[in-house]
Amino acid sequence: MTDQNEEHRIAMEKRQAEQREIIKSKKKGTRGQLLVNTGDGKGKSTAGFGTVLRALGCDWKVAIVLFVKGKWKTGEREFFNRFSDLVDLRVMGEGFTWDTQDREQDIRAARAAWEVSCEMMQSGKYQLVLLDELNIVLRSGYLPLEEVLAGLAARHVDTHVIVTGRNAPTELMDMADMVTEMKKIKHPFDVGIKATQGIDY
Ligand code: ATP
Ligand code: MG
Repeated sequence: MTDQNEEHRIAMEKRQAEQREIIKSKKKGTRGQLLVNTGDGKGKSTAGFGTVLRALGCDWKVAIVLFVKGKWKTGEREFFNRFSDLVDLRVMGEGFTWDTQDREQDIRAARAAWEVSCEMMQSGKYQLVLLDELNIVLRSGYLPLEEVLAGLAARHVDTHVIVTGRNAPTELMDMADMVTEMKKIKHPFDVGIKATQGIDY
């Protein structure tokens, strides 16, 4: 047993030295990053909101733009509305496209949301801006991709931006500093379970 403990200690000491070398070889980021959460698994928006909580804990100013407003009241919206002094939350979408059934209205809503997003990203007022479901709007062709890429590139140098939604365009992923693909292994929806309050909305 003592031998095993001693072996462990030596192995960890070596590992710690290696870790320290790796960290020493990296440098601190000098500008705001672009993060993309995409894929067909659950957790893209959840991870975005989780990062918002972390940022708020660091006393950052945060803005959230919801591009596709859900049909229901969501837990996150209720929560962030309680902290409107800390989070600037804008609900810009008119609803799922299959609910609005009005392409012109969807396009107008997307444009209004994008204009607000650009202002927020360029203002330098926020350290973090979450653009939830922007990918959905792009996929629907409601905003020109080139314009969106240019707007993201023109963000304030200190502003981090998170873009969520399935089917992120390749060009956006190319431009991003971090891309995470949520991969579905199982989802209750596949066996006939409806979205669950507190978990899904
Ligand atoms: P969440 O907001 O829960 O993090 P998400 O942002 O990853 O989900 P969206 O594509 O925005 O995923 O999905 C919105 C809703 O659809 C959520 O209620 C989510 O739980 C659900 N959902 C996500 N992935 C799947 C899937 N593979 N099959 C069925 N429903 C899904
Ligand atoms: Mg989502």
